[in-house]
Amino acid sequence: MKISRFKKLHKTVTFFATNFQYREPYQVLVDATFCQAALQNKVIIEEQLKKYFHATIKLVTTQCIILEAESLGANLAGATMIVKKFCVHKCGHEGVPVSASQCIKSMAHAGRYIVASQDRALQTSLRKVPGRCLLYLHKSTPVLEEPSEASKKYVLKKSQNLLTNDIEKRIEHLKQEEGIQEEHLEKIQRKRKGTKNPNPLSCKRSKKPKDHTQNLHVSKRHLALNESSKTPTKSKRKRIKIPAHVKAALKSTQ
Ligand SMILES: [Zn+2]
Repeated sequence: MKISRFKKLHKTVTFFATNFQYREPYQVLVDATFCQAALQNKVIIEEQLKKYFHATIKLVTTQCIILEAESLGANLAGATMIVKKFCVHKCGHEGVPVSASQCIKSMAHAGRYIVASQDRALQTSLRKVPGRCLLYLHKSTPVLEEPSEASKKYVLKKSQNLLTNDIEKRIEHLKQEEGIQEEHLEKIQRKRKGTKNPNPLSCKRSKKPKDHTQNLHVSKRHLALNESSKTPTKSKRKRIKIPAHVKAALKSTQ
């Protein structure tokens, strides 16, 4: 296989593995049209697909596919023989078989199957459903079809939704963080305010000495005033005026 073809295949497989959980061993749901094309182009399906995928694969089919192939008679006898060799997966139509394409649509819907078919109508129908993976034979070469527009759009939308969800979550997270920070800041501010506000006790103490001195001055003044005002009233010394003649008499006696 050419490197460019392998790169394309790898890209497609990775796309389906990443976005639609396709896993090894890849389950390839094979119908009679694919077997018929393989037969015509002398392709041994299992060998060719293992080479193509470079991975483990599991070839499966359904009862409805086998029954439809059988009903088509001798023209598809070879293809019917091939398809019957594959592992038959339960499709839910046991007892009430449906057309192969209808069955494949429901199977593809239920599980992660790589649908191997040459049925153009089925391919067109499956391309409209996101996550459907198609395989067909181009002559003798298997081709895993690139993801359909529906698959690409689905993945794009999903990633955009995830992105918006992620952004919303981040905003919410940031808001919460902000909220916490705001609360934290409020606490800090409260604390700061607490420390900034003068302590009533310390305030009294700091003011007291000033007031005290002032008070002292005031009290001194007050005292002085009081004294001055009181002296005339309280300390009224009654001076006994001694008459001059008495003084002279006293002196003479001394
Ligand atoms: Zn079925």
